[in-house]
Amino acid sequence: RKDGSRFPAVVSVTALRDAQDEIIGYLLIGTDNTARKEAEEALLKAGALQSAIFNSANFSSIATDAKGVIQIFNVGAECMLGYAAIEVMNKITPADISDPQEVTARAKALSVELDTPIAPGFEALVFKASRGIEDIYELTYIRKDGSRVPAVVSVTALRNNQDNIIGYLLIGTDNTARKEAEEALFTERKRLDQLMQDKNAQLENAKLAAETANLAKSEFLSSMSHEIRTPMNVVLGMSELLLETSLNPTQRRFLETMHHSGKAMLGVISDVLDFSRIEAGRISVDERPFSPRQVVVDTTHLMEVVAEKKGIAMEVLVASDIPEAVFGDDSRVRQILINLLGNAIKFTKEGRVDVSLTVHPQEPGTLLFKVIDTGIGIAQERLVDIFERFTQADSGITRNYGGTGLGLAISQRLLELMGGRIWVESQLGQGSQFCFTLPIKIAVASELQIKLVEPTTEASTRSLRILLAEDVEENQILFDAFLAGTPHYLVMVDDGVEAVARVQKEMFDVVVVDIQMPRMDGYTATRQIRQWEREMGLVPVLIIALSAHAMETEVQCSREAGCDLYLTKPINKSKLLGVLQGIANQIEMAAHSGADG
Ligand code: ADP
Repeated sequence: RKDGSRFPAVVSVTALRDAQDEIIGYLLIGTDNTARKEAEEALLKAGALQSAIFNSANFSSIATDAKGVIQIFNVGAECMLGYAAIEVMNKITPADISDPQEVTARAKALSVELDTPIAPGFEALVFKASRGIEDIYELTYIRKDGSRVPAVVSVTALRNNQDNIIGYLLIGTDNTARKEAEEALFTERKRLDQLMQDKNAQLENAKLAAETANLAKSEFLSSMSHEIRTPMNVVLGMSELLLETSLNPTQRRFLETMHHSGKAMLGVISDVLDFSRIEAGRISVDERPFSPRQVVVDTTHLMEVVAEKKGIAMEVLVASDIPEAVFGDDSRVRQILINLLGNAIKFTKEGRVDVSLTVHPQEPGTLLFKVIDTGIGIAQERLVDIFERFTQADSGITRNYGGTGLGLAISQRLLELMGGRIWVESQLGQGSQFCFTLPIKIAVASELQIKLVEPTTEASTRSLRILLAEDVEENQILFDAFLAGTPHYLVMVDDGVEAVARVQKEMFDVVVVDIQMPRMDGYTATRQIRQWEREMGLVPVLIIALSAHAMETEVQCSREAGCDLYLTKPINKSKLLGVLQGIANQIEMAAHSGADG
């Protein structure tokens, strides 16, 4: 142009001739070609892009005809699948180079999903796309060398101007990296699971080992305290006897201190024994008929002596609607009450201790025991942990009160075993209220065991002939010493064999057999005596079993063997004499009624 810019033109040139056909000039007709040039360039560019896209090695493009036969197999497909385009074009369908199991599975799944039968072949790969549904899925291609390549495949139906399907385009991207990452994640998860599992096992083992160790400790404590208890009883018994002799005031004070400390020690040992038995799972509670009223009244009477000494008033209230007899373990209920009453008295300087037994106002099937004191009280934050073993509210170095901190822990465990519970309400400096419950299991009152050991006003002075079978010499001496000064006559033998022989030779009112003896134990001796009595048609002698364990299984065994009474060691003087007094009274009464009738 005049301004120097350029433009493309299409030029048509014609030679101009005269009549003689001589060229006389040229005609140049030019048309502006800019638009066409631009269009051509754009076309070229788009074509280049398309072919670049299509021949990218990063994804496989496979185009098929409507039947699925491969028509285009791009460079990416060649790279990914190892086939040259000419090896597959016009020969096979994409289904032929796919994992047959996946194709079959896909056909099945689609048949269900779309509720129409779909053949396990190429149809399965393109069915959704053929219905105009966008379809992208994972598929494993099989390479020419047989190896597998996981791919994500996107399928499109190709249509002509009349909207008829003329083929399909399958674009696939290599999914190996993602698959591998997924695989790694799975295996990692598995490894972690395994690790967790191993840890748990390890933990389980550690727990088991700890439990076993704890059990061993409990067993050890149990047998230790049992072993200590036996000689301790002898020490106590002897000091009791010594106190009955004439002593000067200093001697008496020393001996009383000794006796008092000995009793305290026995208490501690009994607590440890009890607790270790509970921990070792070796304590069971009984189910026998007892009178809850009687238990409350008895224990209150027992503890009144202690309260009186401190100048503390005690009152007991038993509601009138308390059943006469219930099933349960009266000795354990007694133990709990004595512990609570003992604490109430111990931690009260002045004021009173009240005991009550009612039916729980909110729970008609439950007995509610309360021990209320006006003592030092317990700080709010200690209310829960005083039920833990070896825990005391004043655990400082300046401890003012003795005790093991086991009583409440034992009470709680025993109540758990009996289906009850225990709790406390308290105000520091005001006093405490300990409550516990027991389920009411009604028993028939007539089933209450007739107590031989009733304290009685008109004591008989009858002399009893007593046979004691006991292998431990110290216990023999103690027993003998307890009976000194009573009208009773005592014969002692060392084992069951001698006991049976002696019973067959002599008349006795009472036979006391230790359960554990060498040569022949107490049960066997009792059975043999009962058998002999039956054979001879004799009136059975009263047999008392003596044992170190207050276990129901032993009580049961002794009953089955034919024993009338069961006494647990330690036997102190008043307990023994009380029992013998009861027996003497019974015999007296029987003799009287015999004389009357
Ligand atoms: P122990 O009395 O042998 O120490 P317990 O388990 O019976 O053990 O009691 C644990 C602690 O609970 C006691 O040491 C005491 O601190 C507190 N405690 C129990 N009963 C009372 C009470 N009636 N008044 C105040 N404190 C109490």
